[in-house]
Amino acid sequence: MIKTGNYEIFILESGRFALDGGAVFGLIPKPLWSKLVQSDERNRITMNLTTPLVIGRNRKILIDTGVGSKLEEKLRKIYKIDFNFDVRKALKDVGIEPEEITDVVVTHLHFDHVGGCLEVEGGQFRPVFPRARYFIQRKQLEWAKSPTELDRASFIRENFMPLIDLGVAEVVDGEFQLYDGIKVFVTNGHTPGQQHVLVEDSINPVFFVADLIPMSYHIPTTWITAFDLFPVELVKEKKRFLTAAYKNNWILVFPHDPDVRAVRIGPGQKYFEVKEVIE
Ligand SMILES: [Zn+2]
Repeated sequence: MIKTGNYEIFILESGRFALDGGAVFGLIPKPLWSKLVQSDERNRITMNLTTPLVIGRNRKILIDTGVGSKLEEKLRKIYKIDFNFDVRKALKDVGIEPEEITDVVVTHLHFDHVGGCLEVEGGQFRPVFPRARYFIQRKQLEWAKSPTELDRASFIRENFMPLIDLGVAEVVDGEFQLYDGIKVFVTNGHTPGQQHVLVEDSINPVFFVADLIPMSYHIPTTWITAFDLFPVELVKEKKRFLTAAYKNNWILVFPHDPDVRAVRIGPGQKYFEVKEVIE
């Protein structure tokens, strides 16, 4: 748990999945990335589904929800989904019931971030967190409704359209102040209208990078994934936020790193690098 001012932050793990290592490391040759990460017989690497929980000022705010329970069998196999943990279990471990969640910030609508927002009961969709408002960027919503051929596999309409139809979504435009000490930023390089939460309530500011930097290995500027739709823009955004993270001593929390959840960074020889791992 990380304490920052009036907020306590629990970095929950809501499952694991696997993606092709080549896709995760884009233009980086395998001889380089395979020194850092092991891949399986199908060249997949294990990744985390991190869903941070922010508690304070009478709010219980969940950031992303993992893959959820609706994914079809074929995709579960392709993505090697490990259901030994899910978002409910992760919450239970810290003594929180789904009914207590007041807000869910969905960083973007890729299935591995939004899938846990809804479940199917008696043929009907229902929100997993019945009392929560679900914050979604309008730009991302519009994009997700009609993605390109390149990224359409990442979006499953049943993961997000029912949130709109059920009237539980809070569709927002651009940067905004969520609550006192919690700010939301927007980037467009990974996917248009991705949002990032900064909790900066006095000490230990904590920044949830989402897929701007999926794992600690992606801190070097040129280490980006093949899923990043607008790579040149992403690289600019990464530099901007890493510089801010260094100057303001932010703790960075990664969405998909199974080993390193949170770090502080500093300048390295060529790029920023990890200076301190936060346990
Ligand atoms: Zn993504």
